[in-house]
Amino acid sequence: MLQDILKKNELSQIYYLYRITMKQKPVHTKGINPNFAILHAARKKEQLSIPDLALSIISGNHTALSQGITLVESTSPKHQQQAQKLIELCLPKANNSVRIGITGVPGVGKSTFIEAIGTYLTEQHKKVAVLAVDPTSSLSYGSILGDKTRMDSLSQNPNAFIRPSASGGSLGGVARKTREAIILCEAAGFDILIIETVGVGQSETIVHSMVDFFLLLKLAGAGDELQGIKRGIIEMADAIVINKADGGNEKAAKLAKTAFAKALHLYPPKESDWNPKVTTCSAIEQKGIEEIWSLIEEYILLTKTNNYFNQKRVAQNKHWLLQTIENSLKDSFYNNPTVISQLPSILNAISNNEISPFEGARTLLDLNT
Ligand code: GDP
Repeated sequence: MLQDILKKNELSQIYYLYRITMKQKPVHTKGINPNFAILHAARKKEQLSIPDLALSIISGNHTALSQGITLVESTSPKHQQQAQKLIELCLPKANNSVRIGITGVPGVGKSTFIEAIGTYLTEQHKKVAVLAVDPTSSLSYGSILGDKTRMDSLSQNPNAFIRPSASGGSLGGVARKTREAIILCEAAGFDILIIETVGVGQSETIVHSMVDFFLLLKLAGAGDELQGIKRGIIEMADAIVINKADGGNEKAAKLAKTAFAKALHLYPPKESDWNPKVTTCSAIEQKGIEEIWSLIEEYILLTKTNNYFNQKRVAQNKHWLLQTIENSLKDSFYNNPTVISQLPSILNAISNNEISPFEGARTLLDLNT
């Protein structure tokens, strides 16, 4: 069965290219089951070589994928180097997916909704990976996806892969790790990527910059549907879904739907030519899920036809290139030992009005060149 999934020639090419780039003698891999290597290494508690790990990920092995993501999330410089090589090897197999961002306040039903739509999609023979961008996870470990029992049945589904948010570091750091995890998941053959965020700080904007379709989950309120929503989020949403439309709450959900639909008319047309949709669902009763997937498919068809889908991905890649440069410049600056040793005295000089902040910044920046 593995042979059916694998395009062995491509895998071998990647492997050979890697060995040659690393100035290592290529080992003939024809006929080798890449999963054998990972099982063998796991049994012996050895670390798999990066090309073997890449092969195993590309063959769809979930354990290898988890290991790859752990490597991407590691802060050790050695692991970071290995992670970059792994990503390079996986990149030719990535991109063939639909990336969906989901946001909403805590309690709105994100994980119940993801479980419902994820299960529906696996029934349609899709492979679904769920990742998260949670800026709070460094404070309270794994606060949105850490508790896997929230997606109990999906987490046990062989066609689904659920990974909690990377923890630690800045939001930018968490976002970069998620971006890289997306590449690995796509290389592992997941066609649907769901990126969940709880919407703290800038996390929605960051998730929006890495997905094709952005879905906002809402609850019906007593006439206050439009209050307390950041304008930017409505503007980013390709669909607003009013959840918990069940158990006597259907009428309020319908009213909220009408209110949002009216409000959306006030926003300028989207570059994608897509008219954002408002709909209702009950994640817990799995009602309205199929309709939501249909509208996502409608969006994909429209944007692939008018080429917006591709343009957006290219624009996102450019954005991420610049973000990566910015982050690594910042990292190298703040990790420079001279900067670390001089920063307190410069801060002190500023507190005593001995130098201006601009002069202080210039002095520190000069130390880093
Ligand atoms: P999250 O914090 O946004 O991930 O929300 P959860 O998925 O954990 O859901 C929060 C609570 O709302 C849980 O008690 C769920 O059972 C409940 N819930 C989620 N979706 C629905 C729904 O469609 N209808 C109803 N009645 N309750 C729901």
